[in-house]
Amino acid sequence: MTSKGLKVPDDITVPFITGDGIGKEIMPVCKAVVDAAVKQAYNGNRSIEWLEVMAGQEAFKQNGAYLPDETIAAFREYLVGLKGPLKTPSGRGVRSLSIMLRQALDLYACQRPFRYFYGVTSPVKYPDRINLCVFRESTEDVYAGIEWPFGSEKGKRFGEFLLGELKEEKVRFPESTAFGVKPISREGTERIIRCAIDYALSHNRRSVTLVHNGNIMKYTEGAFVNWAYDMAEREYGTYLSSGRLVLSGITCDAFLQSAILHPEEYGVIVTSNLNGDYISDVFAAQVGGVGMSPGGNINYETGHAIFEATHGVASDIVGRNVANPCSLILAACMMLEYLGWKEAADLIVTAIERTLRQGITTADIADSFKHGNCVGTKEFGDALVNMMTSGTRVIR
Ligand code: ATP
Repeated sequence: MTSKGLKVPDDITVPFITGDGIGKEIMPVCKAVVDAAVKQAYNGNRSIEWLEVMAGQEAFKQNGAYLPDETIAAFREYLVGLKGPLKTPSGRGVRSLSIMLRQALDLYACQRPFRYFYGVTSPVKYPDRINLCVFRESTEDVYAGIEWPFGSEKGKRFGEFLLGELKEEKVRFPESTAFGVKPISREGTERIIRCAIDYALSHNRRSVTLVHNGNIMKYTEGAFVNWAYDMAEREYGTYLSSGRLVLSGITCDAFLQSAILHPEEYGVIVTSNLNGDYISDVFAAQVGGVGMSPGGNINYETGHAIFEATHGVASDIVGRNVANPCSLILAACMMLEYLGWKEAADLIVTAIERTLRQGITTADIADSFKHGNCVGTKEFGDALVNMMTSGTRVIR
């Protein structure tokens, strides 16, 4: 799904952050695969100029800042970018760089598609029943970062206000409580629900499922559900009445069970920030783990979008050429689709399907293959490029 009104020239500049840890291994592989796909799909009539921007440990070493202003400015200017994994700097009160980027650009829609590639290790019996997309609101909820350390001035003042002025009596141990706030707004709700519905309509999906805890948190998660239904009725009424679109709701606990037992019942899922975090990992685990799951952070109104590998820096395997580049490569496919370069994205996805079918995998997803050929990060990338440029056969 593309942002409304996004005009994409044939030769584009894409800012990218290599990232920390295995970022240095997977990013070059990813760029080579994307370049080969774009060249193949458009006979050289379209191209990407990659613009490296700094963030993370390398940026800190060079400039003394983990997320330099120029990096945010580049994403602002070029609208669409790609990001490897970033290590969250240690230290009290230091926020995740990925979250800082999302906030700086108001990237409210965290989009996580999940599908199974034949042959990948999975702990469930029928992983091929998973083919869905999760939309996680990512600027609100308890993840908005409105909380105070216990004993801090603001924390104390908030406690006094809650207990004194509001006469809130439900705080069990008022003298020793830390507080955080869960904001959920109508605008925030409506814009993420709109994304999910537009995605369903443009991807031939009928069902959009709201996952919530509205039965317990009636005035926040409950409001999320009510605002969602109201907006859908107002803006998508004809789709609802014709049956082209079915909007339903389920509580998060029931959903997490159903996500494992009956994932085929779901096409598009939309949820608040914390639920979305848990739900994404439940699906990722079933389709091969974090190495196989891409993500995009998008603002469909401004067009700003950063696509990313969803795993961390994987310090335990750094420098060994064993990391799976698929999360980042599939994120790049999301980016290509977002740019309207679907032909190139399809070429890569087909190459991944065929390569994995041939039993060529990285180590993290290899052990279910009877005749597996476990290869390194770089070699896996080469196999994809070969697959795209030489038809269906891989040259080993
Ligand atoms: P961070 O501190 O950045 O959150 P983490 O180690 O807590 O990192 P991940 O980096 O996501 O979390 O790693 C979790 C596990 O998954 C590690 O064992 C790691 O080696 C493995 N892993 C993560 N990404 C990949 C990948 N692309 N390919 C193979 N294994 C991976």
